[in-house]
Amino acid sequence: MSASSTLFNRLALIGVGLIGSSIARAAKTQGAAGSIVATARSAATRRRVAELGLADQVVETNAAAVAGADLVIVCTPVGACGEVAREIAPHLAAGAIVSDVGSVKAAVVRDMAPHLPKSVHFVPAHPVAGTEYSGPDAGFAELFVNRWCILTPEQRTDKAATERLAAFWRLLGANVEVMDAEHHDLVLAITSHLPHLIAYTIVGTAEELQSVTRSEVLKFSAGGFRDFTRIAASDPTMWRDVFLANKDAVLEMLGRFNEDVSLLTKAIRRGDGEALFEHFTRTRAIRKGIVEMGQDSPSPDFGRAHPGLPHAPLPKPYAAED
Ligand code: NAP
Repeated sequence: MSASSTLFNRLALIGVGLIGSSIARAAKTQGAAGSIVATARSAATRRRVAELGLADQVVETNAAAVAGADLVIVCTPVGACGEVAREIAPHLAAGAIVSDVGSVKAAVVRDMAPHLPKSVHFVPAHPVAGTEYSGPDAGFAELFVNRWCILTPEQRTDKAATERLAAFWRLLGANVEVMDAEHHDLVLAITSHLPHLIAYTIVGTAEELQSVTRSEVLKFSAGGFRDFTRIAASDPTMWRDVFLANKDAVLEMLGRFNEDVSLLTKAIRRGDGEALFEHFTRTRAIRKGIVEMGQDSPSPDFGRAHPGLPHAPLPKPYAAED
């Protein structure tokens, strides 16, 4: 650990699941904080955090975690943030930065800000990185590398505090962007929340089909279905909270999505191949853009490693072509 990279003396993590434990691992690797104190709701998770050695200290209450911390990051599901803010408020050190990692921002600001004392700096954040796994075992230090972390401070928030938190996330490998909370929620509604809703829907629909047996759905899943199942395996508590908290933006995007589904439905019904081809060409270009921006691997089949072929490839020319 180099002293120059230690941005904070004491980092408090409230909630140590996928995101909290990834922050703990990355902060430790990068020496971003002098010490890390962590807590979680259940004794079982706190025990596991201690076993994994994710923090210098594991404490039982949210109030105890924040005492003396100069950076507090709330890493619980969005629906718990308001209550956590109420609990920790009287115990926060003056000048501390209080942040979170919630996937929705306006609701988190609405729920947390009223509880926080004027003596702290509230800088909400959302690292746009994750997996379908949860809990302290699921995290890894590289989760945030080359991913975006969006900060949504209010206009009147101290610029130096925002910059200090930005430096923390950059040290963990992330790129940082600052925007207002409402805009964040609109952008994420289309890039993250709607895709999850569609995945949850399609996997549920396939599960309920009578004419296709469950074993067939699983057996032939490589046709596209399995990619939706990865997203639809995401944590139910987290995603329930996201849809409750970002209701308006999700409904807005869902309305637009339904209109587009109607257009494609019409094209299929009318046998309008040109419309389908034009649409699919546009969407393919978006995929290309994501790869070019380094947000995904160009490897075929969604980056999956390919098992070896079961048989040696037949030498050309094939017998059938003779
Ligand atoms: P997770 O793996 O389910 O972990 C949640 C953690 O919060 C657990 O340690 C849980 O403790 C703790 N917790 C819940 N309520 C609490 C409370 N009242 N006080 C203290 N601790 C509490 O969740 P996650 O995936 O890390 O998500 C955490 C946050 O990150 C969410 O707000 C989510 O929107 C955001 N986020 C998630 C992703 C993603 O892909 N997963 C990506 C970006 C942002 P127990 O284990 O004891 O219940």
